[in-house]
Amino acid sequence: MNNKKKLIKILVITAAALLVLFVLSAVVAINADKIFVHIEKNGAFKKSIEFNEVEITSTTTFEVLSDDSRVSFDQSMMLVNKLYTLPDAFEPQISEYKSTTVYMNNCMLDAYAELSADISRRFRQKLYVSSDFRTADEQAALYEEDPLTATLPGASEHQTGLALDVYVARFSGDGFIKSPIGRFINRNSWKYGFIIRYPSYGEDVTGIRFEPWHIRYVGHPHSDIIYNNHLTLEEYVESLKLGKWYETEDYYICRMAIPYEDEFIFPSDFTSCVISPDNTGSSIITVKK
Ligand SMILES: [Zn+2]
Repeated sequence: MNNKKKLIKILVITAAALLVLFVLSAVVAINADKIFVHIEKNGAFKKSIEFNEVEITSTTTFEVLSDDSRVSFDQSMMLVNKLYTLPDAFEPQISEYKSTTVYMNNCMLDAYAELSADISRRFRQKLYVSSDFRTADEQAALYEEDPLTATLPGASEHQTGLALDVYVARFSGDGFIKSPIGRFINRNSWKYGFIIRYPSYGEDVTGIRFEPWHIRYVGHPHSDIIYNNHLTLEEYVESLKLGKWYETEDYYICRMAIPYEDEFIFPSDFTSCVISPDNTGSSIITVKK
């Protein structure tokens, strides 16, 4: 009788353990699916981008493009870090935002206005900016004051005007993510063309710990791809093979060193196009279908 009881006990414990293992593996699988889009052949999970290389055969020249009213030039895709520092001659294209004394890159004025208005509407609270555009001298002064937190002059994207440090009443810095607006921004700012430039999962790539308050404009569809594939800007820019064209539902994307004299491959039919230097010696061309 005792032996029978023991056996039942062992069976029950084994079944419970198996059940726990099964549930755990299912959770891991769901998370893995959510984070990584594709699974490599060898079975290892790998970050990947949900758009494909596409064959384009039509060509154009720089002269034709620069005369085309559908084509604009901005600085939205600049990659700025310790490896790719800003050249001394860099000239940020910045403007004051709505007479607020906040200066930001021209390419993000509309996107920031939309994000800020949506936040006021949803939360009946204002989003503030604690740090906006910085000159090289201002960055140098910050670095001198606190070299552990501040980045070297030339390596801060605040010098492009593409980055803003934001906060709300009572929640700033690390605490920003604890506020409903902080969470909203971290989960939804990609819908407005922004990314969390130093995400919690990206410290090994960016070299900078999670900064939930530092938003960076890149525009569509780049913010969509970066957010949804859990990438850093470094990984995204490097994943674009030079001269290859990629296609999403609404866009074509190409990273290339623009040949100013020769013809180059370019989609023949499009609505609009943005060309931005990427600060690695190439440009990123974003073509809206
Ligand atoms: Zn910042």
